[in-house]
Amino acid sequence: MKLWNHYHTPATADEAVSLLAQYAGQAQVIAGGTDLLVDKRAEGGYNPHEALVDITHIPELCKIEEDGDFITIGAGVTHTQIVKSALIAHYATCLVESCGVVGGPQVRNVGTLGGNVAHALPAGDGTTSLVALDAEADVIYMGERKRVPIRDMYLGPGKSLLDSHRDLLVSFRFRRAADREATAFKRIMRPQGVALPILGCAVWVRLDETGALFEAARIAIAPIGPTPGRADEVEHALIGQPATIETVERMAELAQSTLHPRTSKYRATADYRREMIGVLVRRTLTLAIYRAQTGDIVPEGVGA
Ligand SMILES: Cc1cc2nc3c(=O)[nH]c(=O)nc-3n(C[C@H](O)[C@H](O)[C@H](O)COP(=O)(O)OP(=O)(O)OC[C@H]3O[C@@H](n4cnc5c(N)ncnc54)[C@H](O)[C@@H]3O)c2cc1C
Repeated sequence: MKLWNHYHTPATADEAVSLLAQYAGQAQVIAGGTDLLVDKRAEGGYNPHEALVDITHIPELCKIEEDGDFITIGAGVTHTQIVKSALIAHYATCLVESCGVVGGPQVRNVGTLGGNVAHALPAGDGTTSLVALDAEADVIYMGERKRVPIRDMYLGPGKSLLDSHRDLLVSFRFRRAADREATAFKRIMRPQGVALPILGCAVWVRLDETGALFEAARIAIAPIGPTPGRADEVEHALIGQPATIETVERMAELAQSTLHPRTSKYRATADYRREMIGVLVRRTLTLAIYRAQTGDIVPEGVGA
C-alpha cells in the first residue's frame, strides 16, 4: 500500500514551510503519524500523498525550554518526552497527566503534542490540559509567524485554523505554575478504549496567600462542544470562595447544571457524561487544591 511518493525531513521551520509551498497543496506535514497514517490507511492508500514533510528533525520543534516564567514546548515533542520532563511535571502537572494516558507506550513514543492539537479533536488529551494552562501556539500561518491563543486554533471537530498542507505549528507557550498555583488532569475512558476519552477535565487553580481561598481558576472539560471548552460559570463562581470540600461539591453541581455535553454513539450518552462532569470536577479540583496548598506534586495515573 503506497501512502506517499516523496518524503522530506527539513532541518528548519522555514524549510518545512517552503517545501509545503513548492508542492502547492499536494504535500502535508507529518509528525508521529499516529493520526495521519491511520487515516490514510483507512482510505486504502488509493490516493497517496505526493509528499510528506516530516517535522521531527527540526531542532526548534523538538525542545522543551524554560524562559523566565514561561515554558515552551516544541510541536514535535512526543508525549513520552513530556511525561519524562521533571520541569513540566513540576510546573504544568496536568500536561504530564494528560500526555501520560494517550494511547499506549508505542503511540506516546512517537505521537506529538503538536499532532494532538493540529488534528483538532476537541477531546484530545493534550489539548484539554493546554486549554487549562491557557497556552498560546506559535505558528507559521499563511507565511507569517504569529502567536494564537490555544482555543482559537480550533474551528470545529477535526477542523484546525491551520492547513497542514501550508501552515506549521511550531510550539506552545504557557506561564509556569507559581507558588500557591497548581494543576491536575483526570479522564474517563472505556477500558478497551484506544483513542479519545469519554470525558477529560484539566484544572488550574490559584489560592490566596493564606492558601484558604480561591483567587482564580481555569477549568477545561472536553468534549462539551465542537471546540475545546471551559467551564466559565464555575470559574467565575469560584473566585473568593473557600478552598474546601463544600465548595468543590457546589462547583461540581454547578458544572453539571451549566455544561451541556452531547451523546456520542461511540463513547457515551449525554446523561452519562453529565454525571461524569460532576465526578471529574470533584476529583481534579480536590487534587489541585491539595497540590497548591502543600506543593506536593506527584503526577498521577501516568502510563509507563
Ligand atoms: C492506538 C491509538 C491510541 C490513541 N489514543 C489517544 C488518546 O488516548 N488520547 C488522545 O488524545 N489521542 C490519542 N490518539 C491520537 C494520536 O495519537 C494523538 O492525537 C497524537 O498526539 C497525534 O500526534 P502525531 O504526531 O502522531 O500526529 P500526526 O498523525 O503526525 O499528525 C496529525 C495531524 O496533524 C498535522 N500536524 C502534525 N504536526 C503538525 C505541525 N507541527 N504543524 C502542522 N500540522 C501538523 C498532520 O498533518 C495531521 O493532519 C491515539 C491514536 C492511536 C493510533
